[in-house]
Amino acid sequence: MLYQEEPKQAAEYLRQVIPMLSQHNLAPTPVNYSVFYTYLSGASQSLNKAVDSIISEKKPFNLVTMLALYEKFINGGASLEQQEKIQQTLEKIISDTCNEIQQVNDEAGGFDNTLNKHSESLSATNDPQVATLILKQIMDETRSMIKSNQATQSKMDETNAEIMKMKAELEEVRATAEKDALTGLKNRGAFDKAISDSVQNQSALKTALVMLDIDHFKRINDNFGHLVGDRVIRYVSALLTQIIGENHHIARYGGEEFAVILTGMSIDDAKPLIEKIRIAMANSKLQRKDSGETIGQVTISAGITALKANDQVDSLIDRADKALYEAKETGRNKIVALG
Ligand code: GH3
Ligand code: MG
Ligand code: MG
Repeated sequence: MLYQEEPKQAAEYLRQVIPMLSQHNLAPTPVNYSVFYTYLSGASQSLNKAVDSIISEKKPFNLVTMLALYEKFINGGASLEQQEKIQQTLEKIISDTCNEIQQVNDEAGGFDNTLNKHSESLSATNDPQVATLILKQIMDETRSMIKSNQATQSKMDETNAEIMKMKAELEEVRATAEKDALTGLKNRGAFDKAISDSVQNQSALKTALVMLDIDHFKRINDNFGHLVGDRVIRYVSALLTQIIGENHHIARYGGEEFAVILTGMSIDDAKPLIEKIRIAMANSKLQRKDSGETIGQVTISAGITALKANDQVDSLIDRADKALYEAKETGRNKIVALG
């Protein structure tokens, strides 16, 4: 799919997509956003036909319909990139506005020159009639300058308010699109992007990758129900954030599995940190909030590896997976590192 809108036009679509999403009770996820953006831009006639027919038949837009539309007509994968494109558009509008402001400043400078000239002419004449004429000219020009300034100012205020609104909307779209709804951690898409960035920008910085999975999680679901299962997932997420801090990428990789990219860390740096999490979990005595019923000990297993010179994303993740698998196979509630 090729989007070739001018920045202003793209920004206009951005403004229209948000209310359209909320009208249909859809979260501003990349998939939903892309479908309606493409619809508004008219870039795919067949998508528009499909969307129009859903609207005219009064069928609901839901997760499944949106994903189907996305897969069929947009052929996904590029949603985060698209958001970056929108961000660039916004930055262009901001820079255009700065140029306008510069222009106004230049005009003000011109006015200053005119005043100086008039003031010179005034001091050069003794003729009261000429002086009156010059004064009248000054007043006329001042009035017109004030008028033009006021018009520019209110236009600037409008543009500014518009930009602020769009920026907030965009940030919301972006944040929601990168977040896992249950835990607030990064979601799989955001992780994929972060790990690919780490592999591509291999600098002098060390990078460790951790795959961490809750042990026998299925039992928790089976014994206490999915809602309790969800709470346990949230508990582990909170613990990860608390121990690892905000400076690293912590993502929910899938159901009850987490992936952590530790930037600037070797396997040896990562081990004690992840060991802290393992111990904290092994010592936890979780209880149901409602009934106080004991869930008991919940443990985690983790695989740790570090980025090597000729690693690709897949080879790096495979190694961490292998380490995690070994931790599971050799007893769980443990950490295995694979260099
Ligand atoms: P292991 O120790 O080998 O990891 O065993 P396990 O039971 O944790 O792993 P398994 O992969 O067999 O089961 C994971 C379960 O997690 C299966 C699935 O129903 C459940 N699950 C996946 N996502 C969620 C979720 O978002 N919430 C809840 N409550 N359960 C989930
Ligand atoms: Mg598990
Ligand atoms: Mg699992």
